[in-house]
Amino acid sequence: MNIEDLYQDLILDHGTNPRNYFAQDHAMCEADGFNPFCGDNLHIYCNLDQENKIYNISFTGSGCAISMASASILTEIAKNKSHSEMINIFGYFKQCLGLEHTDMSIMSIDQVDHDRLQALSGVKKFPSRIKCATLAWHALLQAVAKSG
Ligand code: ZN
Repeated sequence: MNIEDLYQDLILDHGTNPRNYFAQDHAMCEADGFNPFCGDNLHIYCNLDQENKIYNISFTGSGCAISMASASILTEIAKNKSHSEMINIFGYFKQCLGLEHTDMSIMSIDQVDHDRLQALSGVKKFPSRIKCATLAWHALLQAVAKSG
């Protein structure tokens, strides 16, 4: 399968059947993400354990398939990761999207996550949709930073 097929599959799968899509009443960390260019509107919930690792992360909201798929994938990738690990992984994702050019080490990224981020970054062919793909990521980092 080439990267474009992987991208289509991933967006279709997670966009139509988002994982961890539920609200939480007592989440430690919460933040909104709004993308006025597309109308994507989402809310991220998560909790931090004693080692400041993310657990029980979820989201709600509505938006295009790309924003929903990216948020869904994010909730799977962020499990058991710390804030700084997520900053690194987001940095790697942004590099895949062509937004940043750094020699980001990918040593700390699971192969499965790495492959999904590579596939998800197929969105870079549609520059106006990159904000859709990064929306949930900004919201998560904001939510976790606020709690610390
Ligand atoms: Zn969108």
